[in-house]
Amino acid sequence: MKYRTILMFGAPGSGKGTHGKALGVIPSYFHCACGDVFRSLRPETPLGKRFLEYSSRGQLVPDEATIELWRQCLDNSMQVGRFHPDADTLVLDGIPRNVAQAEMLSDALDVAAVFYLTCTNRKNLVTRLQRRAIKENRLDDANLDVIRDRLKIYERETKPVLGFYGKKVVYRIGADETPAQTFLDILKHVVKLC
Ligand code: ADP
Repeated sequence: MKYRTILMFGAPGSGKGTHGKALGVIPSYFHCACGDVFRSLRPETPLGKRFLEYSSRGQLVPDEATIELWRQCLDNSMQVGRFHPDADTLVLDGIPRNVAQAEMLSDALDVAAVFYLTCTNRKNLVTRLQRRAIKENRLDDANLDVIRDRLKIYERETKPVLGFYGKKVVYRIGADETPAQTFLDILKHVVKLC
């Protein structure tokens, strides 16, 4: 079975998590953030260690391990009754992060929309990430070099995912607005998706 899916897409700091979470509180939308799944791992487990090793350098965790963890997380959510695939729309953020992941997930996702959060000012992104480093105690946001590497990886590896899904499902959303305005812009499209 393929899950009806909305993808939150954009650079680190563009607000994918904020808006994904907000959509996820609406009944029949289930939000799943790949970064949160990784952060919930105990750091002493093999995958927890691997996550820390890659994320602290601003790099992506290898695809096989990422997709396996994601599938397990979704299975668990279904088993405990948090995600009902017949009735719910899955709201993903942080995955797929490259074209290889998009291909690996093509058996599972029926992508109805990709909300592409665009930020005109790169400085805004960096400021948001630095603020988040303090608020959420995130190692990968604390160092300017790591932030720059993540932004480079986003440009090089993640952006091509837009081409994988194609123009028909991609909605550009300006993310320089206030969070409320950006969320309203997203919602206007969400209500029109059948
Ligand atoms: P951001 O919101 O800044 O984009 P995330 O919370 O989504 O950050 O991800 C934090 C880190 O977790 C990434 O830098 C990466 O190391 C790892 N990660 C998250 N999602 C994926 C993924 N789909 N593939 C590989 N690594 C991932």
